[in-house]
Amino acid sequence: MATRTAAKSSTSNGSPVPLGSQPFLQSVNQYFDKAAAFLDHPKGLIDQIRVCNSVYYMQFPVRIKGDIQVVQAWRAEHSHHKLPCKGGIRYAETVDQEEVEALAALMTYKCAVVDVPFGGGKGGIKINPKHYTVEELERITRRYTVELIKKNFIGSSVDVPAPDYGTGAREMAWIADTYQTFEKENINALACVTGKPVGQGGVRGRTAATGRGLYFAVREAVNDTALMKRLKMATGLADKAIIVQGFGNVGYHAAKFLQEGGGTIIGIIEWDGAIVNPKGIDVEALNEHRMQTGSITGFANGKTVKDGMSVMEMECDILVPAALESQIHNGNADRIKAKIIAEGANGPITAVAEEVLLKKGIYVMPDMYVNAGGVIVSYFEWLKNISHVRFGRMDKRFEEGSNTRLIDTVERLTGKSLTMQERTFVARGADEEDIVNSGLEDTMISAYHAIVNISNRDPRIKDMRTAAFINSIDKIAQSYLLLGIFP
Ligand code: NAD
Repeated sequence: MATRTAAKSSTSNGSPVPLGSQPFLQSVNQYFDKAAAFLDHPKGLIDQIRVCNSVYYMQFPVRIKGDIQVVQAWRAEHSHHKLPCKGGIRYAETVDQEEVEALAALMTYKCAVVDVPFGGGKGGIKINPKHYTVEELERITRRYTVELIKKNFIGSSVDVPAPDYGTGAREMAWIADTYQTFEKENINALACVTGKPVGQGGVRGRTAATGRGLYFAVREAVNDTALMKRLKMATGLADKAIIVQGFGNVGYHAAKFLQEGGGTIIGIIEWDGAIVNPKGIDVEALNEHRMQTGSITGFANGKTVKDGMSVMEMECDILVPAALESQIHNGNADRIKAKIIAEGANGPITAVAEEVLLKKGIYVMPDMYVNAGGVIVSYFEWLKNISHVRFGRMDKRFEEGSNTRLIDTVERLTGKSLTMQERTFVARGADEEDIVNSGLEDTMISAYHAIVNISNRDPRIKDMRTAAFINSIDKIAQSYLLLGIFP
């Protein structure tokens, strides 16, 4: 495999792109091949699972500042073994077909690993959103949606986008509104996209879901006594030193929940610099500072480090790359000193770099599992949209009544009474966010143990990513076999 020494350049949005590092799609396929070698499915079936089923490349005109600009965009549907396809939409200058295909493939494997019954998809528009006004971004987003509609690349039963790097609830609301304009008679039109604002058919808990899911994944790992013994670490999150790269949706929420869970956030890295404080960074205060100044740099309660990438190489217990792909490559892998890496971003470690990390004894928790919280809760949002009722609406009051009757019975039988505060706490019925967060937690915990059980079954499977890929590929293969396509 051809790899060159990595050097850094900077795109105009400030994101350092490691030059010469392994291409993203090649990296994903290398991970896939490594795992597929442990399975004895027919070669044709494995090939079918690996390839991208369809890609739509489009170029469309948009009026920008009085001129016409031709915008390039893609939507890839990696797998149709389950429908709809599901995956985010990215706005970045680095977007190209290979990146979209790699991300779509990861979505297929991710959905399978956490039992979300979707195929993988991904979309991207090759723009730097920072260069456009909100009105221009809206025009680009709506035009992109129309292109998807024209080619049947969007719809609640076909392909359902979501937010990704450079997009959020605002863009998802524009997509939903455009789609609904064309699909007035379609009662499930709102389910054409997830990650919408709650007032526009979104689900409570979606925005924080990926970071929250990452926290559940890390919590499971640090409470795994066998793993902690192997890594010579104390169990639990308390006092674990954590560094997070990327302070966007995933990175901010991951840092927040890891801190609330007892971890110490000693470094946060953004494209224009990093903040370091060995005693711990107050995540909420840093977020406040960023909102006021537009940057994390200059934060009073920590040291600003201009070369943010150097902070990735600092000693820590847990490193969370949550910005972009290929951040740990063959040019810096040997300098990484973390004991555990939890991939918040998609593809932050190239396959070649991972071999270096594994040799150093670093435990890598793969993106396809660790950052699956977003798609898990997107699935819940889609279910809410097609069932047309908020979670908890039908049973919250009934549950509270049952709990109250139970408390009354216990009090009568024991002769003791709960305080009003205790009674309210115990009797409370679950609302939408409770149900969503509980479903997310349960899925992340079950998936962790399913993956770890695979490595426990076969001593040749030494890393978590290979185990996760085996779990995923096997489920997709079974699905194809049940469809009757491969006799
Ligand atoms: P985002 O746009 O909200 O945040 C990304 C952050 O990374 C931004 O603050 C950006 O300034 C920063 N950044 C960019 N280049 C950087 C660099 N070189 N060093 C440090 N920081 C840098 O995006 P997001 O939604 O948080 O997505 C981040 C990653 O997580 C992507 O790989 C995405 O595919 C993946 N992901 C996102 C979700 C989701 O629900 N949003 C779900 C799964 C995976």
